[in-house]
Amino acid sequence: MNKNIQVLKPYFRVDETLEEIRECLEKGWTGIGFKTEQFESAWKMYSGFECAHFLNSATAGLHLAIKLFKEEFGWVDGDEVITTSLTFVSTNHAILYENLKPVFADVDNSLCLNPASVEALISNKTRAIMYVGIGGNAANYKKIKQICVEKNLILILDAAHMAGTRWADTAEHIGLDADCAVFSYQAVKNLPSSDSGMICFKSNLLDQRARRQSWLGIDKSTYERFTEGSYKWRYDVPELGYKYNGNSIVAAMCIVSLKYLEQDNEHRRMLAATYDEFLSKSSAIEVVKHDPSIISSRHLFQIAVQNRDFVLESLYKNGIYCGVHYVANHNYSIYSNCKRDVKTSEYYSSSLVSLPMHLGVTKDDAANIATALLAL
Ligand SMILES: *Cc1c(COP(=O)(O)O)cnc(C)c1O
Repeated sequence: MNKNIQVLKPYFRVDETLEEIRECLEKGWTGIGFKTEQFESAWKMYSGFECAHFLNSATAGLHLAIKLFKEEFGWVDGDEVITTSLTFVSTNHAILYENLKPVFADVDNSLCLNPASVEALISNKTRAIMYVGIGGNAANYKKIKQICVEKNLILILDAAHMAGTRWADTAEHIGLDADCAVFSYQAVKNLPSSDSGMICFKSNLLDQRARRQSWLGIDKSTYERFTEGSYKWRYDVPELGYKYNGNSIVAAMCIVSLKYLEQDNEHRRMLAATYDEFLSKSSAIEVVKHDPSIISSRHLFQIAVQNRDFVLESLYKNGIYCGVHYVANHNYSIYSNCKRDVKTSEYYSSSLVSLPMHLGVTKDDAANIATALLAL
């Protein structure tokens, strides 16, 4: 092939994005408020989530979710959260930040949590389940939600890959019934900005708490004080919070990306269908399937192969830069002592390959990449 193709790469509508940013610069308001509120409204309108608070990352959002549930329900240090090992470390760092214990349940061949493994790991210390919609998939989600209802556990959705993943029958966005869903708008995610995220609590009260916690614990944002009339300088700090809020410049980027999310996800689904068509025939390549009852955001297209190093190296020589999502977290020193059931996660951790999936990849590219793979 005569062009190098990265596994993930952001695509921005440059002029339109600059126009949106220009408004912030002209108004002289680049911080929280103004565009962040505009984007929160646009996201709620698009997704159907009733609460949404714009943050500087999904990592911050996952931390806030764990922290606020811990506080709200009186969880104590050492309480357990059942989670997946096959994820980006942010998912599980959030649990450690609050001195809780990640317990790794296994995945199945969808790479999503295996409900049987989750159920077997529930103890009297289990407080929540962290579900990751890996690659935009939502396999077993309903079953996991049902377990949470039956066992009175909190469901946190790491929706970093899921912007735009919907149920096929109702077209409703997935995660509206989670206690909290956290989205990432980091540059290579489906709704790209420079770096940002959204926290969507089911509870209005927790949404309000998240707003204060993400603004250092201050009881009024600068924007609220500004819009009260003349700038009101007095505020209280009732608690210790973090500087986790998103800003208007980044929200301006998100506003434009959101307008194209459906169109962009459609492109991703077209690429996935192309890869699928070629690769499903191969006996050496296992294609990771997404749940047929969803319309996936298709953040990733993943395959599993026996000879991964060879496959990665060979494609690399052809200018095709594939990725690995993910090395299972229990392989990292900091997670090596966590309670676990990870046989399948371990298998996929050593065999997964993510094929190029972004707006710069054409249908022909996908066909060529698949052909190159089949020829190995
Ligand atoms: C990217 C990612 C995150 C973290 O998102 P940031 O916005 O970069 O903090 C969390 N979980 C998963 C599964 C991710 O891929």
